[in-house]
Amino acid sequence: KPGLTEANIRAAMNEAYDKFKNASGGANANYIPYLADVDPKLYGIVVCTADGKVFEVGDTKYEFGIESISKVFVLALAMQDNGQKAIEDSIGVNATGMPFNSVLAVELEPARAVNPLVNAGAMATNSFVKAPNKTAKWAKIDDIFAKFAGRRLPVIDKLYQSETATNQHNRAIAWLLYSYGRFYDDVDMSVDLYTKACSYGTNAKDLAVMAGTLANNGINPVTKEKVINPDFCPKILANMMTEGLYDSTGDWVYHTGLPGKSGVGGGIIAVVPGKLAIAVFAPPLDKAGNSVKGQLAVKYMVDKLGLNLLDGR
Ligand code: GLN
Repeated sequence: KPGLTEANIRAAMNEAYDKFKNASGGANANYIPYLADVDPKLYGIVVCTADGKVFEVGDTKYEFGIESISKVFVLALAMQDNGQKAIEDSIGVNATGMPFNSVLAVELEPARAVNPLVNAGAMATNSFVKAPNKTAKWAKIDDIFAKFAGRRLPVIDKLYQSETATNQHNRAIAWLLYSYGRFYDDVDMSVDLYTKACSYGTNAKDLAVMAGTLANNGINPVTKEKVINPDFCPKILANMMTEGLYDSTGDWVYHTGLPGKSGVGGGIIAVVPGKLAIAVFAPPLDKAGNSVKGQLAVKYMVDKLGLNLLDGR
């Protein structure tokens, strides 16, 4: 295996950038109007090592919607508040094997896992965060995202409005969960806070540092702040490994052997525990809702740097 030296990491990252810069295929998410209008040519890659070095190439300053990648960090907060067993018992951590916005995960059998990393389970996880009222709950979410990223993240107001105007399907899923006694706070409030967290503006560097915190056992590798209990990291990463790219997670793990998480804003993160995290931003998505170039770039870097956790050599 090539060593994870600065030169090797930079070379693999730059090659992945050049190789897929003009790759075609995929399309921006269009069910949220704001996302349809983002420039599909934007493309950036950032690596954050577990000891806090950051390498970047391309459009790494552009702020885009974090979308489903937010689910990982709200899960971390819910675990911190309630312990991991509460999440296992009430939300369920098994993979759904279904699209991210599926109602079937809720409907097939009442006790089925709805998983924190798809919409149903993520909204239920949001409802699990402990706070006396909506303002206090948002403040807690905002604080933990700021600690993960190392800066206070903005909410993209136009995106938040665009999502709010078009989230009828998510509201239906949430009320369905409620009807089965699987929602743990006010439904409309939780859906709104879920939608707001999806509307955070992050750049690829923010995502790399957030994912780098998971690679570094819950300590932000850049600010050195302890963000979450290290016991939760392998649990969160296991969830990412089995559900991070929804119904195409199996394909992803087959090729990368890494926990990952995508968002319909075009972001994708991959974590190599104890070593580094990669974040890619490129808006065109495949049918499952995962960045096309993002997956290609990570796969390339995994092969080039020998990052596959399932490769025993
Ligand atoms: N906000 C989006 C939704 O709820 C997030 C989905 C995603 O990124 N997969 O549909």
